Amino acid sequence: MVSMLREALRPVVDLVYPPRCPLCGAGLAAQDGLCAYCWAELAIPGEPSCAKYQRPFGDGVPVGAICLPCLGDPPKHDGIAAGTLYNEASRKLVLAFKHGRRIALARLLAGLMAARLPPIEGQWMVVPVSLHRWRLWRRGFN
Ligand SMILES: [Zn+2]
Ligand SMILES: [Zn+2]
Repeated sequence: MVSMLREALRPVVDLVYPPRCPLCGAGLAAQDGLCAYCWAELAIPGEPSCAKYQRPFGDGVPVGAICLPCLGDPPKHDGIAAGTLYNEASRKLVLAFKHGRRIALARLLAGLMAARLPPIEGQWMVVPVSLHRWRLWRRGFN
């Protein structure tokens, strides 16, 4: 129902707010993406990488290896899923989402993270960390 309404209103929203790349302002075909140039600027983690923090390794390191910093100070979790490596483009993307109120980027960001999740086995629970009520009021979304 909500997605049908969203699709029905999309032409009106696009007319009032023409889709723009959140990083450079170039025109786009849809509200929830990046232009080809900015997309290429994102550093998507790949293999081989650290099994704990997905820090990239050079070629020849076996899958499941752990980097030196993680060996020296082991994290207290089993690992993270990084949608992108930190660089200027990813920083701008997250700031556009969190502080620029570009919540249409949620689908793109979620897709980047989901692509890096390991296969889920057994029973898992994904728990969002809620904002404090004042921060929720200021930001307008959780
Ligand atoms: Zn762009
Ligand atoms: Zn590591």
